[in-house]
Amino acid sequence: MSSKSSVIPVTSPALPPFEEFVEEIRDIWDSHVLTHQGPKYHLLEEAIRDYLSVANAPLFANGHLALQVAFWSLGLTSGEVITTPYTFSSTTQAIVGCGLTPVFCDIDPRTLCIDASKIEELITPKTKAIVGVHVYGTPCDVKAIEDIAKRHGLKVIYDAAHAFGETFDGVGIGNFGDISMFSMHATKVFNTVEGGCLTFNDDELYSVATAIRQFGCYGTDETQYVGTNAKLTELHAAMGLCNLRHIDESIARRKAAYRVYQAAFDAIPGIQTVYYPESLKPNYAYYPVLFDEEVFGKSRDQIADELEQRGIYARKYFYPLTSTFAVYGPMFEIQATPIAQKVSEQVLCLPLFADLSPDDAATISKIVLGNV
Ligand SMILES: *Cc1c(COP(=O)(O)O)cnc(C)c1O
Repeated sequence: MSSKSSVIPVTSPALPPFEEFVEEIRDIWDSHVLTHQGPKYHLLEEAIRDYLSVANAPLFANGHLALQVAFWSLGLTSGEVITTPYTFSSTTQAIVGCGLTPVFCDIDPRTLCIDASKIEELITPKTKAIVGVHVYGTPCDVKAIEDIAKRHGLKVIYDAAHAFGETFDGVGIGNFGDISMFSMHATKVFNTVEGGCLTFNDDELYSVATAIRQFGCYGTDETQYVGTNAKLTELHAAMGLCNLRHIDESIARRKAAYRVYQAAFDAIPGIQTVYYPESLKPNYAYYPVLFDEEVFGKSRDQIADELEQRGIYARKYFYPLTSTFAVYGPMFEIQATPIAQKVSEQVLCLPLFADLSPDDAATISKIVLGNV
């Protein structure tokens, strides 16, 4: 293990140089503009719109609220939503929190995203939308989903929390579906400490989403929408402006660690790693490993324990499935999703962040493979 620390977390937030941040917030002390879409907000929104190659990119206090605003902006407040249980709790909680009923679709065993070939059988007269998650930055089958949505008149929302900065088929990944949500939380590839972003091509949605962000009104006496408070502050925007200057370097450093892991695990029987299709420019957000105990000889839980004994904190991400949350039990019927169930019992996300050294990635690989 490297000498600088004896504990390795699963992730560690990227921080800009301290002096750079202090310099960036100096004008805030001059202007006294702290929030309400001030100059920092506008600079960051424009920079993110460019970086993601999208037409619109309003920013929010966090990704979760942004996702809820996405549903409200599309008028989705009741009915069924076909979605994946293999995600962070936020996706399903946002759906349920908006009064929508999740209908759980199984996942594709390779991409680990919603299995588009199983969506149509779940459509009922109550279905309003499809909510896919680009899990670990691996894109959903966006073409098949678009085709289904068009034929059945459904909205498509992507939880792209893991996919910041990626392009797929040469297009910014935030261009698919009606709206995509990116998280800018501390643990994500790009962070504003807390923050989120919605991307979409329909310019008319901009005024709706930004009004809902601010109590449902445009700053006039009249309130047009049922809204919330999800504004991104100037201090958070300043953090984003700094981090965005370093994001390419940060992704390159993640890639170096990813390569060490890939070299170690690629050809090992009983191990499946993150899937990046040929036409994806990935951001190396996560390094999930699926352990097939019968072939590999050890279970996910055993590996997690062995790592933890050495101060390395891998994470069972995503386990358990959101569809198993006890709180939902009496609320709606829950569909069986056997592939998602199996994957959730096999998966372990290994540490991956910009400051993880390739040497540490090599040590972690050896421990996982029992070569120490
Ligand atoms: C992080 C995350 C969210 C929520 O984003 P926040 O910015 O933390 O609110 C939603 N979905 C997924 C898949 C995430 O990983």
